Amino acid sequence: MAYKLWLNGEWQDSDGGALMDIENPATGEIIAQVTEATRSDVDRAAQAAHAAFYDGRWSRLTPGDRSQALWRLADLINARIEEFSRAETDNTGKPYKFLSLGGDLPFAVDNLRFFAAAARDTHGSHAGEFLSGYTSMYRREPVGVVGQIAPWNYPLLMAIWKIGPALAAGCTVILKPAPTTPLTTLMLAELSAEAGIPPGVLNIVTGGNDVGQAIVEHPLVRMVSLTGSANTGKKIMRTAADTLKRVHLELGGKAPFIVFDDADPAAVADIAAFAATVNTGQDCTAATRVYVSQDKLTRVQDALVAAMRATPVGAPYDDAVKMGPLISRAQRERVMGFVERAKNDGAKILTGGNIPAHWQQGYYFEPTVIAQADQTSEIIQNEVFGPVITVSAFQDEAAAIRLANDVVYGLAASVWTNDVGRALRVSRDLEFGTVWINDHLPLTSETPHGGFKQSGFGKDLSAEALGDYQITKHVMFKQ
Ligand code: NAD
Repeated sequence: MAYKLWLNGEWQDSDGGALMDIENPATGEIIAQVTEATRSDVDRAAQAAHAAFYDGRWSRLTPGDRSQALWRLADLINARIEEFSRAETDNTGKPYKFLSLGGDLPFAVDNLRFFAAAARDTHGSHAGEFLSGYTSMYRREPVGVVGQIAPWNYPLLMAIWKIGPALAAGCTVILKPAPTTPLTTLMLAELSAEAGIPPGVLNIVTGGNDVGQAIVEHPLVRMVSLTGSANTGKKIMRTAADTLKRVHLELGGKAPFIVFDDADPAAVADIAAFAATVNTGQDCTAATRVYVSQDKLTRVQDALVAAMRATPVGAPYDDAVKMGPLISRAQRERVMGFVERAKNDGAKILTGGNIPAHWQQGYYFEPTVIAQADQTSEIIQNEVFGPVITVSAFQDEAAAIRLANDVVYGLAASVWTNDVGRALRVSRDLEFGTVWINDHLPLTSETPHGGFKQSGFGKDLSAEALGDYQITKHVMFKQ
C-alpha cells in the first residue's frame, strides 16, 4: 500500500515527493510506503487550511455541530478499533492485546469524545461592566491554522490528543505524524470526511523533519504544537520566532519514582517495572529514576530486578506479552549506547543490558536495571527512551526532593508513602507537571498533562488544552 497526502479533503499526489518505506519493528519487514511531502505540498496544505478557516466552514459552525462531527469520528474509529489496533501494532511493535487494543485505541476514542463534549462548554467570564458607561464582552475565538507535529511512541493517540482540542476550538489543522509511524494517522483521513469534517479542516502531510520545519516556517500557520523531544522543541521555538507563532510543546521527561521507608518494596517494585517497560520504555512519563530511602535500598533493588526479569517480552500478537521491540534499529543503538556508557562510567548493570538471546529478529532489548550511577551522569540526566531504569539511595526527604528535581526535565514524578503530610509536602516541592502519589502513569482525558522546565509548556488533555487553541478577544461597547 502506498499512501498519498490528505489535502483539502481528498488524497492528492505530491508535487515531486519521493516514497518512504514504513517498517514493522518486530520483524524488519516493509509494510507500506508513504509520501515524503515537499515544501510545495506543505504550502498546499496551509492554503487549504487557511481557506477553510477563513470561510468559516468549520470555525463558524456552532459548537454543537463541531461536537457532532468529532463524536461521529470517534464512533467511526471505535467501529474499526481492531483494524486500527492491528495497524498500530504492525507499525510500532506494541503488544496488540495489552497496548494497542487494550490501551492506545480506547484512550484515543475516549479523548476525542471528551473534546467533542468540551467544544460545548462555555464556562468563564463573558460579559460585564468594568468601566462606567461601557459593557465588555469576551469572545473565545479559535487561534486559526495550527501545525501539529506528532512523535512515534503513541502515533494515533498523540495525533488525537492534538487534533481533538484544536478542532473542538474551531481551528483548522495541518497534522504531521512521525516519519516512522504514519499509518494509523493516515487511516484517520477518510474517516474524518465520513464524519462530516469539511475539506481543508484536517490536512495530513507525511515525511521527515524537513516537512515539520516547513510547517513551522509557513506564514499562514498561526500556532505550532509539537509532541517530541526537547531538542526538537528548541529548534521549533527558534524557527517559530521568525513569524512569532504561538508554540505548544509537549517534550521529553525523566520521571523520578521516590520510595519512602514506609512503602512496601515488593508492591512498588512491580509498579516501577511496569512503568519502566510499558511501551518498551518509550513513554515520556515512564519511570526512569528510582530513588529509595537508604534503609530500603537493597530490598527495593532486589524486588525491582526480579520484577524486570519477569516482564513478558516477545511477539506483539502473543496475548501474554507485555513488552515488544523498540521502534527502530537506530533507537536500539541509541539505548545500547546509553547502557554501555553507563557501564564505562562505573555504574552496575543489575539485570538486562543486552539484546535478548531468543529475539534476534526485530529491535528487542532486555528490561534493564542500573545501580550506582552518579547523579551527574548522563544515564540519570538524559532521556533514554528504552526499558532502562536506574536505582539510587537518598538519606532524607530533602535529599529525595533535591535529587528528583536535579534534571532539566519536569514532566511527571511519583511519590510512594502512606504519610499524608509527607505526600503533600513533597508533591508541592517537586517541579513536575504531574505528581502521582502511590501510583505511576495513569492519565485521564479530564486531567491536564504537560511539562515544567525543559519538558515544555502548554497542556494536552483536559479543558486547559482546549483553551490553548483559543484566543480571547475583548469587545467593548459604549452604552
Ligand atoms: P522527535 O523530536 O525526534 O520528533 C517528533 C516530531 O517532530 C516528528 O514528527 C519529527 O519529524 C518532527 N521534527 C523533528 N525535527 C523537527 C524540526 N526541526 N521542525 C519541525 N518538526 C520536526 O521526537 P520522537 O523521537 O518522534 O519522539 C520521542 C520524544 O517525544 C521523546 O523525547 C518523548 O519524551 C517525547 N514525547 C513527549 C510526550 C509528552 O506528552 N510530553 C509524549 C510522547 C512523546
